[in-house]
Amino acid sequence: MTQADPKLLANIRIVLARTSHPGNIGAAARAMKTMGLSQLYLVQPTLFPNSQADAMAASAGDLLAQAQVCITLEEALAGTVLAFGVSARRRDIVTEVLTPPEAAVRLLTEAQAAPVALVFGNETSGLSNEELSLCQGLVSIAANPDYSSLNLAAAVQVLSYEIRQTWLQHPSWPPPEIDAARLDDVERFYAHLETALTELEFLNQGSPGKLMLKLRWLFSRTRLAQEEVNILRGILTAAQTAKRLAGPLRDRKPE
Ligand code: SAH
Repeated sequence: MTQADPKLLANIRIVLARTSHPGNIGAAARAMKTMGLSQLYLVQPTLFPNSQADAMAASAGDLLAQAQVCITLEEALAGTVLAFGVSARRRDIVTEVLTPPEAAVRLLTEAQAAPVALVFGNETSGLSNEELSLCQGLVSIAANPDYSSLNLAAAVQVLSYEIRQTWLQHPSWPPPEIDAARLDDVERFYAHLETALTELEFLNQGSPGKLMLKLRWLFSRTRLAQEEVNILRGILTAAQTAKRLAGPLRDRKPE
């Protein structure tokens, strides 16, 4: 039997957002290394590097030494084509909810072509809506409904384990269905969309409401291909040009 390809595991990032307890960072690194994962990204950790992190990492200190410390989640996700937020089930978010084995299949399929990520939240507050809006789906561990909040590193262990089991069971994968856009290109599209909607006087920056968040959920329910992002941005540019030529709505004479 062919061996599972280690390159796939090397393309999976574990991103810990705003971790409060450095011990959890070390324990997460250990959880990852025991399952063959190595790419640890830390977004604004409260304390890092730290002796408690080193102690809890045991022989996974190399992952801590190589960890990428980022200021923003966008930075940690740059270059990835798929990111799932990991969170106990949330009713306030309109997005796809996957089980850990389903997420493992999706991540490993895409990891053949480009980096992918799992994003874990802060120990007390979990993932913010803003953080989740950068992800294309939610992975939930079906835990005891009366107490469903796992320790952060325990949640990393569960997901890392599922990824490894799925990886071991599939020595080969069908290629990814689409040439998915990288998340930094998708973020540039959202920024362009916001600017264009403001110029078109559809979005009022004085009372934006949740329009941009809702549009993000809309697009995150589909996988945008790189070519589709280019087309959408072309449409926005055409609309902006037409609007600039037509001038502000208030200056328009009634027909
Ligand atoms: N009170 C927080 C708990 C955070 S626990 C909350 O309600 O979100 C820290 C992190 O561990 C979470 O952000 C999530 O990434 C992960 N986690 C804990 N329990 C989980 C579960 N049942 N399913 C998926 N992720 C979980």
